[in-house]
Amino acid sequence: RFITLEGVDGAGKSTHVDWLVAQLRDRGLSVVQTREPGGTPLGEKLRDLLLNDPMRLDTETLLMFAGRCEHLHTVIQPALDAGQWVVCDRFTDASYAYQGGGRQLGAARIAALEAWVQGDLQPDRTWLFDVPLAVARERLNRSRDLDRFEREGDAFFERTRAAYHARADTSGGRMRIVDSSRSIDAIREDLAADLAGLLAG
Ligand code: C5P
Repeated sequence: RFITLEGVDGAGKSTHVDWLVAQLRDRGLSVVQTREPGGTPLGEKLRDLLLNDPMRLDTETLLMFAGRCEHLHTVIQPALDAGQWVVCDRFTDASYAYQGGGRQLGAARIAALEAWVQGDLQPDRTWLFDVPLAVARERLNRSRDLDRFEREGDAFFERTRAAYHARADTSGGRMRIVDSSRSIDAIREDLAADLAGLLAG
């Protein structure tokens, strides 16, 4: 099974990735934990470029999908074929949200690249960690050095969040919106319930 975690920067997504992987491993399941941008040696080099070097929006989008192509075909698909679970910190929904929404490329270009690179492959479940702007800003201000996406203004944040919501609304139940302004324990209760369903299914 293929699970992805998504959300605007500062939504607290990273906190839950390790927890999810531990939950699965505790049940004796074999799990590949990975991330995007990144996930392969080439992908990590692309990540460094994407996070630090200014570039045209088309270039950014194409590099995201170039990294995704390598990642999907050399890491994700082989793991799924071998019966492993794959937990990925961000995937194509992030391209719809950030490049499509935040940077206003629109969904059509993303959809074309998605069809090219992924064919029919979609995550089995995507948790969308969702917080209002004020909460995300407060969390980011307390954290590490910001990358070039995290330094964007409020309008960028709102467009990105709205594009994530639009994705969730049309995902046919694949994406679950998690109200991430609550306590970590409350969030985990919800996640554990959904995970129980996935493990049973
Ligand atoms: O989730 P993580 O913090 O590792 O993401 C790295 C950065 O890349 C974030 O600032 C995120 O906003 C950005 N990103 C992006 N477009 C994507 C994926 C990630 O702008 N498709």
